[in-house]
Amino acid sequence: MDKKLWDKAVTFHGHECPGLAIGVRACEAVIEKMGIGASDDEEIVCVTENDACGVDAVQALLSCTIGKGNLIYRGTGKQAFAFFNRKDGNKLRVYLKAQNIDEMERKQWQEYLLNAPIDEIFSFSVPAFDLPERARRFQTVICELCGEGASEPKMHLQEGKIVCSDCVNSYSRGW
Ligand SMILES: [Zn+2]
Ligand SMILES: [Zn+2]
Repeated sequence: MDKKLWDKAVTFHGHECPGLAIGVRACEAVIEKMGIGASDDEEIVCVTENDACGVDAVQALLSCTIGKGNLIYRGTGKQAFAFFNRKDGNKLRVYLKAQNIDEMERKQWQEYLLNAPIDEIFSFSVPAFDLPERARRFQTVICELCGEGASEPKMHLQEGKIVCSDCVNSYSRGW
């Protein structure tokens, strides 16, 4: 394991934990297997399947961020990350197959994740979904009820009025 990567991720995340170790090793795996480095722009796109500690490593080490549109949250709750390289069309899904079945204590589990061979920790596959569209800029539309502006694809049509996600009376109460 690359100690420099670990230190950088810990600084960003704020503490050491097994979850961060998973993220760091996943980054190490894609750097190695896809031959990529930190992304200056949006070339490397990560679709993360969880919002746990590990995704902070992806942000710190590969510069995939929500704000740039090259970090996409697809909440399956799995310890999996799919990576896409827009430049060469390469893609790889990294899935954590190692499980703490022996109930190793936290520190021990973290050490294992940091030091075990990559292929023992993860399984690799081609993502079953496609490269997400590039980050787009959308027009801002003003909600007819509260007067706040929001991006067009987030607006709803309700009783003939264009309303925002806060104002819409949705049958499904989620966002
Ligand atoms: Zn953590
Ligand atoms: Zn509104």
